[in-house]
Amino acid sequence: MELESIILPGVSAQRPLVIAGPCSAETEEQVFTTAQALAKKDIRIFRAGVWKPRTKPGGFEGVGTEGLVWLNRVKKELGLYVSTEVATKSHVIEAVKHGIDILWIGARTSANPFAVQEIADALRITGFSGPVLIKNPVNPDLELWIGAIERIYNAGITKIGLIHRGFSSYDKKLYRNLPQWHIPIELKRRLPNLPLLVDPSHIGGKRELIAPLSQQAMDLNYDGLIIESHCDPDKAWSDKEQQITPDILSYILNTLVIRDTKQTTESLNELRQQIDQIDDELLAILAKRMRVSQEIGQYKKEHNMPVLQTVRYDEILDKRIKQAESMGMGTAFMKEVLEAIHEESIHQQIEVLNK
Ligand code: PEP
Ligand code: MN
Repeated sequence: MELESIILPGVSAQRPLVIAGPCSAETEEQVFTTAQALAKKDIRIFRAGVWKPRTKPGGFEGVGTEGLVWLNRVKKELGLYVSTEVATKSHVIEAVKHGIDILWIGARTSANPFAVQEIADALRITGFSGPVLIKNPVNPDLELWIGAIERIYNAGITKIGLIHRGFSSYDKKLYRNLPQWHIPIELKRRLPNLPLLVDPSHIGGKRELIAPLSQQAMDLNYDGLIIESHCDPDKAWSDKEQQITPDILSYILNTLVIRDTKQTTESLNELRQQIDQIDDELLAILAKRMRVSQEIGQYKKEHNMPVLQTVRYDEILDKRIKQAESMGMGTAFMKEVLEAIHEESIHQQIEVLNK
């Protein structure tokens, strides 16, 4: 992909690139008051949703095109760049007509190839050159995300950025949307030139998670942040639990530690060599475990025993998870590792059985 920078003239190229503003444009006054307070804190790019994709009908679905007029006023009077979410062809046409500088595709939309294609076609018609930011699809499907990126790129957009906003899960615990950091990191590995922003507001769903998630993203070398900020968060018409005032936002940004990742010191190289060696050993030991598994498969075949023996598996899980905890590793992590190993083990035994 031949991409251009998404950093617009006058915006600092230093990490992090920051986009901030309310979840939704509610009234002209709320938009303007928030934008003014953010501008005072040196925020250069303002966000506000005017069309709100809501999970269920009946909620606040956005003020629509009228909100674009307010955003345009923010652009003209305060000199901020303005951005909004588009989900249909007419959204794109309206947003471009009102001079919106940056468009983003939401997580429910990027999950739908028809919708993304419609947006891509509309972008081509309007001649809008970007930036276009593409949120990860709600479901943890890397290929679907890449597909959305390709559709937008194929429409002639070369200023593309990505937003990691977390993934839906049935089992919501700490986060509103599970971060699953490995998915955007894998995407960054495959498409290294695409700038990656984190949306800690929609991942965390809570004000107190914005600072730690932002720091984590910076530590993982993300390029930027998109954060929901409202002049009066408790009165927000949408996502009020996760919005913060411009003051708090500025405080969080000022306390972020930005580490320069380009310096690879000697000792870091040594540590990396150690990791490489350990990974070699890990692979060798896993392969050895699989060989033993195959022998067990052979034994079960000869004795006409079923491959899956759940009691034995439960015992292993229980014992090893406790052991992992005592060794300073997360129980959820160990469970996932053991489950993956077990699945491969079963697969190998079934192959023996079918020989
Ligand atoms: C938003 O940014 O306000 C939004 C609706 O986000 P998402 O698409 O990530 O749910
Ligand atoms: Mn929101």
